[in-house]
Amino acid sequence: MRATLVRAASVICALAFAACQASQPPPPSAPSALFASQWNGGLDPAEPDFHVQAIDANTLAMRQSLRTTFEAPFLYLIFGKDRALLIDTGVEGVDLRGEVDRQIEAWLQANGREHIMLTVMHSHGHADHIGGDSGFEDRPYTEIVGHTPEQVAAFFELDEWPAGSAHYELGERTVELFPTPGHHPSHVMVFDPATRILFSGDTVYPGRLYFQCGKLPEFRETMDKVAEFAVANDVQWLLGGHVEMKSLPGETFRPQNPSRTGEHVLELPASIIGEIQDALDGMAERPVVSTFDEFVLFPHPADPRGKQPPNWCLAEE
Ligand SMILES: [Zn+2]
Repeated sequence: MRATLVRAASVICALAFAACQASQPPPPSAPSALFASQWNGGLDPAEPDFHVQAIDANTLAMRQSLRTTFEAPFLYLIFGKDRALLIDTGVEGVDLRGEVDRQIEAWLQANGREHIMLTVMHSHGHADHIGGDSGFEDRPYTEIVGHTPEQVAAFFELDEWPAGSAHYELGERTVELFPTPGHHPSHVMVFDPATRILFSGDTVYPGRLYFQCGKLPEFRETMDKVAEFAVANDVQWLLGGHVEMKSLPGETFRPQNPSRTGEHVLELPASIIGEIQDALDGMAERPVVSTFDEFVLFPHPADPRGKQPPNWCLAEE
């Protein structure tokens, strides 16, 4: 009932947008199950380039500031006894290397260690997930994974790409990776049994789940694989690459919005996978942009110039 009332208010706002902007306080952010603070929303001019929050002493989430990029991607740094794993390097133009070095130095001090190997990998090869790679090229004790499916498959010995999975040893902590194409050909998800978190990149996050018009079957196949994996491995949370939903069901921030209040929390429960499967079923043969409470299915043409959502794919026929 409450959600219905909220929706009614937002419809009225859409009709008289300027008046509502002035009179309505921003919606509150829901409390997070994993993070102590709300993520920086680009409102403070002094906001640092990265907002780092610990899930536990060996698992960090880092958000690149909205003040540096509207994409505001989330990156993850997780530590085993012998190796740290950085998932994604964000958008270029900020000193990610410096931030990661500071975090690793703090971990080494806390653990009485001299150094630790670092592997830099990516959820997928889009520019907002690989932009900080060059900062790591001359870093000692560091390996950088390439961006193509062939390079990712070779590095992790995913010999049956896009089938199969690989275990990657960090030292008394082993993660499992598997290919999840659909959003991007080299997309992988990383499961960490220690936290029961599935790092889900841009395939599952509270926002616009983009896939090209012809890729619906591939995206669906990936989601079925993720569903099966989540049940078999008792996945608890999915942490993705962005937040674009508001805390109000079915409401998104406009693309390229420079600052945000009232965001959806970063984490999604494993039950979201079934909801995405149901949404894809409903889309069936008619792929149109479709909004749900916690995500938007966003089929789009390879080149969207001159075309408009939500019927992009149908217009191509
Ligand atoms: Zn992205």
